[in-house]
Amino acid sequence: MSFGLALMFSCSVAGASDLPDLGESARADLSPQLERRIGESIMKEIRQREPSYIDDPEINDYLSQLGRRLVEASANPTGDFNFFAIRDNSVNAFAMFGGFIGINTGTIMVAQSESELAGVIAHEIAHVTQNHLARQIAKEKQNTLPSLIALAVGILAARANSSVAAATITSSQAAVVQAQLSYTRDFEREADRVGFQTLTKAGFDVRAMGDFFERLQKAGRLYENNAPVYLRTHPLTVERISDMQNRAQESPYKQVLSSLEFHLVRAKLRAAMGTPQEALKDFETLVRERKFISAPAARYGLVLAHLRAKDLNAAQREMDALTALKVASPMIAGAAAEIRLGLGDVNGALAIYREALQRFPQAQSLIYGNAEALYAGKQYEAALRFLDSQLQIMFSDFKLHALQAKTYSALGKRLQQHRALAESYFLQGQLGAAVEQLQFAQQATDGNFYEQSVVDARLRELRKLQEEEAKLRRGG
Ligand SMILES: [Zn+2]
Repeated sequence: MSFGLALMFSCSVAGASDLPDLGESARADLSPQLERRIGESIMKEIRQREPSYIDDPEINDYLSQLGRRLVEASANPTGDFNFFAIRDNSVNAFAMFGGFIGINTGTIMVAQSESELAGVIAHEIAHVTQNHLARQIAKEKQNTLPSLIALAVGILAARANSSVAAATITSSQAAVVQAQLSYTRDFEREADRVGFQTLTKAGFDVRAMGDFFERLQKAGRLYENNAPVYLRTHPLTVERISDMQNRAQESPYKQVLSSLEFHLVRAKLRAAMGTPQEALKDFETLVRERKFISAPAARYGLVLAHLRAKDLNAAQREMDALTALKVASPMIAGAAAEIRLGLGDVNGALAIYREALQRFPQAQSLIYGNAEALYAGKQYEAALRFLDSQLQIMFSDFKLHALQAKTYSALGKRLQQHRALAESYFLQGQLGAAVEQLQFAQQATDGNFYEQSVVDARLRELRKLQEEEAKLRRGG
């Protein structure tokens, strides 16, 4: 199933007048576990089939940190949330079942401060904590897992693009989807209000929400028929904007600086635009004319542009200038290590990772980068020890298992290679592929008795799960 370009969710104003009460009710049919599974299924589709999904650990690290800070200040501080980016210049964000929140890169680029971006995300988190999507869907009588997934996918696709929706949903669902295209006016108002509380509690500049939406609305007037998608799918009323501004005026003024990471992520996205030559020219001009908000971010963008243009020596030269500014970030360390690796200096790269990991032990980008560098340096045993230690902390990280499989493969350890790959597939929701890998692992003759028993036991577990899934698919 294609998601089309944008997979956008809209918070548009619906004409619906048969609103459910904005209380705790109306989600009886949909358990949080089921919601999570629907969300995971959609996420699996996005990861595998949506070309605009950004699989970048640095951008994920940043969005997860920002998102986590907001979630902790939300109505559900311990809730399961995942944040990811979609490469799309239009300004938009969307919330899916199970707390999966997607943010278009256009939103990150158009936001003039981190508080503005946080405002958009806080609004989406509120849609999740207030169960808006569930409360809409719970009204429907379709309650088998596949039909719920199809319905949710249809809604998301329809919100993105009505012609995609027409092609991906059956006519019987079309009417249902049509009715679900947008959140109601009351849900929008509630998400604004609850999002504002979250933004305040998380310590962001609360004026940002109104500022951002007002700027979007002004921009929309200039575009006329070509208005930003956010405004087409997510119409803003004057009332919503003035509500936000009134709330902000009642709060004490507070200057909030954007984080270094906010600027670095924007620079990274900007450096990926156009051709490498265009990116180079863009950042060279920026640095030369000092037209930047953050000097380290401008330098960092220039480093990345040189990397894209495959000029490693120039990248190293700019990296030296960036290092002289004495700011520390996992993103800067990652670029520094990438340059060393490109120049064939594996030990230099490993030294950078070692130091950066001491300072930022939880940065996924550094963890993957270090494992990859050990692999590139053929230090397979060390790579496995490192991956093992990380898996003790984050067993559900499918990338760590995939890296482990790759490293076992380099060592010719077939049983372990297939066993690790099975875990990676399993964690990505690909149960069939996981079972297949465990069968390969069973056939491998290079394992000891203990390793074989682990594989046998895991295979029994996953087969049982497969049966349960089949039952669910039959609507049991
Ligand atoms: Zn909304």
